[in-house]
Amino acid sequence: MTETVLLVGGGGREHAVARALGDSDADLYACAGNRNPGIARLAEGFESLETTNPSAVTAYAREVDATLAVVGPEAPLAAGVADALDDAGVYAFGPREAEARIETDKAFQRRFMREHDIPGCPDFETFEDMDAAAEFIDEYDGDLAVKPAGLTGGKGVRVTGDQITKAEAKEYVRDSSYERIVLEERLVGEEFTVQALVANGEVRVTPAVQDHKRAYEGDDGPNTGGMGSYSDATLELPFMDEDDYMEAVDVIEAVVDALDGYKGVLYGQFMLTSEGIKVVEFNARFGDPEAMNTLPVLNTGFLDVLTAARDGDALPQLSFAPKATVCKYAVPEGYPTDPDSGAKVTVDEESAAAAAEGTDGEALLYYASVDERDDGIYTTTSRSFAVVGLADTIEAAEAIAEDALEAAGDGVRIRHDIGKPDLVQQRIDHVAELRG
Ligand code: AMP
Repeated sequence: MTETVLLVGGGGREHAVARALGDSDADLYACAGNRNPGIARLAEGFESLETTNPSAVTAYAREVDATLAVVGPEAPLAAGVADALDDAGVYAFGPREAEARIETDKAFQRRFMREHDIPGCPDFETFEDMDAAAEFIDEYDGDLAVKPAGLTGGKGVRVTGDQITKAEAKEYVRDSSYERIVLEERLVGEEFTVQALVANGEVRVTPAVQDHKRAYEGDDGPNTGGMGSYSDATLELPFMDEDDYMEAVDVIEAVVDALDGYKGVLYGQFMLTSEGIKVVEFNARFGDPEAMNTLPVLNTGFLDVLTAARDGDALPQLSFAPKATVCKYAVPEGYPTDPDSGAKVTVDEESAAAAAEGTDGEALLYYASVDERDDGIYTTTSRSFAVVGLADTIEAAEAIAEDALEAAGDGVRIRHDIGKPDLVQQRIDHVAELRG
């Protein structure tokens, strides 16, 4: 039977999902607030709708006779879109609202870890009274991460001793309109992500990825949704060993065991510290950019994972092409604080592919928040598009990504340092220093 898959979401991550499904014989339909031209080209139908409106999404799912759905972003999960699809008889690969709280409520997430003895939980306290929070900051011996409990697109966290002083942290909690916050010990180390495909109590892990959240080169500037990321040709990253990776897998498995009937992607964000692995956070979906590192190297059919998940079968074992990947986002000038829009996007799928000609690798283009007009594709105020280089080594993949980005015109900014040998070496040196 040909499956009809509804993809919810219109970012780079969802373009990667669409392409992973494009290799199978699924009929793909998509819906998103923005019309992603890359997804629209791969789909039989593309509906512009508010993806946080469960009835709008289920109405479209019914209209196209969807037999499966993939929910990409966190906002629809938080709004109960997976629940609504499941209740309408369309299996959604994505957690129900209650299970998505592992991402959408950081206070719940930390308490859940404590209650279930999940390894790697930092010391933390949760607050609703911001004066009490400010007092705690004053009295705490050491640096802290200040984390709004709800969703902030990765941009709400402030770390003392890194981005702000303790006095600024007190002002931040007092002046913000956040209703609940988490204060937790500042973790120092190297961050990495492990994403797992989860259903029917089973966990299938994917290669570790390192994202770069800071806006500017040298890890400077404000946090963003993610400026780019890399993965190696193995499951680990160059600054980790196999035991570090397995420690992260153990954490993810412990979470899945403690949650009741979780399905979808469980994303673990970890800090490799001098005391081993600590959990920065969990997400209830693929990372964006990390999906663009992971899905292109997945040799197992993504549709086979989805149908097994829905049918209550064992998930297939995953196999990955032994390729390193480097993903770089092009973002509008001024992003994330004061972004411009309206610049013409001058890289396309063909120009990207041509950049890898004559190499052993590949270059892929993924569209994100762009606006398709009659005379071309233009930037909006969010991340515009990403280019992914695939090759045998991180260094070669990075060079391919850069070649593909040469066609990028004015009006967009790129973190050229991501995946470059210097930055990768700094990560290795950092961990060597931590481990003494
Ligand atoms: P989150 O939204 O929890 O992923 O936080 C965003 C970013 O803030 C993370 O990627 C980290 O760089 C940083 N962060 C979060 N929690 C901590 C912590 N406890 N210590 C140090 N940095 C943190």
